[in-house]
Amino acid sequence: MKFNTKVIHAGVDPDPSTGAIMTPIFQTSTYVQNAPGDHKGYEYARTQNPTRDALQKNLAALENGNFGICFSSGLAATDGIIKMFSQGDEVIAMNDLYGGTYRAFTKVYARFGMQFHFADLTNPDNLEPLINANTKLIWIETPTNPMLSIIDIVAICAIAKKHGVLVCVDNTFASPYLQNPLDLGADIVVHSATKYLGGHSDVIHGCVIVKDKALADQLYFIQNATGAVPGPQDCFLILRGIKTLHLRVQRSCENAAVIAQFLRNHPKVEKVYWPGFTDHPNHEIAKKQMRMFGAMVSFTLKGDDFTEATRILSATHLFSLAESLGGVESLIGHPASMTHASIPKEERLKNGLVDSLIRLSVGVEDVDDLLADLQTAIG
Ligand SMILES: *Cc1c(COP(=O)(O)O)cnc(C)c1O
Repeated sequence: MKFNTKVIHAGVDPDPSTGAIMTPIFQTSTYVQNAPGDHKGYEYARTQNPTRDALQKNLAALENGNFGICFSSGLAATDGIIKMFSQGDEVIAMNDLYGGTYRAFTKVYARFGMQFHFADLTNPDNLEPLINANTKLIWIETPTNPMLSIIDIVAICAIAKKHGVLVCVDNTFASPYLQNPLDLGADIVVHSATKYLGGHSDVIHGCVIVKDKALADQLYFIQNATGAVPGPQDCFLILRGIKTLHLRVQRSCENAAVIAQFLRNHPKVEKVYWPGFTDHPNHEIAKKQMRMFGAMVSFTLKGDDFTEATRILSATHLFSLAESLGGVESLIGHPASMTHASIPKEERLKNGLVDSLIRLSVGVEDVDDLLADLQTAIG
């Protein structure tokens, strides 16, 4: 099955008891047994739920994996992955990371005796010197948030494999429509399904996808043993959102390309970050590992004018000032004070995350209206 068919059909069969074409929301906490241990495969809804099962199968298919494991949020999915490891284990992560992931690594799991190293993995040569006998996991996002840096997934996985270290890719920014890390050698893919997979800014959800049965068994064990499971209604909303994933992401990417070019030509704009520019660092790698260049665009203002950035953030009408991304509607955000406020300023500046940096999540509206909104707001 090709991708555009999988989004609609993979894992989803008409309900056997009624023929309902849409997967029902199985809003139940338990399942009746005929006799002790004689049941239909469902015992208790933390452990199994048919709505969640359908979504897990669908997600596995979209990422060309064999197993999907759903969690109550993207960060709960991350939490599930980290719980496979133990005190003394070490993780090497890209230094430009989703703020909440960085916070969980440094403020939560570090307290339990794990070590986290951060490095600029846009150059894969920076990885190997950090690997030691305790290294268990490499954690990358690509494109990164909010600098949209591109990491060569194949190159990172080749180095990790040599040392027997697992690679996890947070594929939230690309979505499975644009990029499939498991095909490029990664062991684990994680998504905040809150973003492109859900796509309508109406649900918080996360998932992990793997090929390997032993990894899947560990993750299902943690899903059940520590319990951060999504409710069936949330699973239904993600399943529903995914049915148009290919259409939404394609249109968003087309719109983003036009907007990135417009910003690049704007006299008040200093720099535009968008992987589709031929002079964007690692553009050739983006071209190789992504289907299109994504719908996230970041830009800075001349003179790093924070006051002017603040004015622009409140002046747009179609671009709503809000955290998050990946919905049908366009959003504008200020990473330094919003999504990345939990990262110390000197760490932020090291990665080029200056105070005038504005991040756009480009939606599926008419691009002419989006351009007019930005033109009016930036002036
Ligand atoms: C939003 C986000 C997360 C966290 O997901 P939640 O669903 O908000 O918990 C993780 N990684 C990336 C890249 C994100 O954008």
